[in-house]
Amino acid sequence: DLLVVGSANADLVIGVERRPAAGETVLGSDLAVHPGGKGANQAVAAARLGARTALLARVGDDAHGRLLLDSQRDAGVDTSGVLVGGAPTGVALITVDPSGDNSIVVSPGANFRLTPEDVRAAAGLLRSSRVVSTQLEIPLESVAEVARAVRDLPDGTTRLVLNPSPPRPLPEEVLAACDPLIVNEHEARVIVGGDLQGAPEDWARALLGLGPRSVVVTLGAEGALVASAAGTVRVPAVKVDAVDTTGAGDAFTAALAWRLGQGEPLAEAAAYAARVGAAAVTRAGAQESFPTAEEVAAL
Ligand code: ADP
Repeated sequence: DLLVVGSANADLVIGVERRPAAGETVLGSDLAVHPGGKGANQAVAAARLGARTALLARVGDDAHGRLLLDSQRDAGVDTSGVLVGGAPTGVALITVDPSGDNSIVVSPGANFRLTPEDVRAAAGLLRSSRVVSTQLEIPLESVAEVARAVRDLPDGTTRLVLNPSPPRPLPEEVLAACDPLIVNEHEARVIVGGDLQGAPEDWARALLGLGPRSVVVTLGAEGALVASAAGTVRVPAVKVDAVDTTGAGDAFTAALAWRLGQGEPLAEAAAYAARVGAAAVTRAGAQESFPTAEEVAAL
């Protein structure tokens, strides 16, 4: 039902008292290795909710790639679209200081070798999906190929969900295919290409003016906002004790994409996604924090 096209990274995390200056060495905590990357996160989040989910991604022929494949399979994701080789698996080197601030170096590795040809070769997976969800941790030309492939599907019933993260200005043909474009405030600012004027409703209208069929603005603890030609609707936040917001956006997007594929209207799908995002912030980590449908219902 759901196809996620995106990145898969190994997150290598070390706690430090303070970050090293140039030429300096500091000692840190034991290394923690977590499966991550927005594509891999979204696929696991959807599968954990019970969605039939496939992942189109590229990892290296190495231990990190095997970790990512294992974590996807453990969650029940169809990994037949995960390509192996061409470069080392993408890695995020993360140091965390005692105040919880992160410094991150990303090596995109195999993620940047997921080519438009790879997308074209996955035509069968695309055709058999009701919703395709993607992000920008893979080459933009591959995202554009996904947008064209979805647009050109004969029956026209597959929709594209795009979370443009990390954000950059988007070509018209990509924007026009989004239904919805999902952004937080920072992403909205980059996509609009200037200062955001007024209230989130105004940002959403500015984004709609760029061509997507619908827009969702996520507002963290303030919930979200849904906008389309039919107007704008606020999605209230679910009150929870936030422990760690890592992965909340990925959980939200995955849940929204799945519910849209189940035929739910956008505002209802967003309300469900807000519950999933809220559940994800009550636990530490990214993939470890994603809830099951039962846990969402109990919230
Ligand atoms: P991103 O991680 O992409 O910046 P947000 O922080 O806006 O995305 O989170 C995505 C969604 O998760 C929000 O729209 C909201 O529904 C939910 N969420 C995030 N943080 C909280 C929070 N502290 N309390 C309740 N819900 C939250």
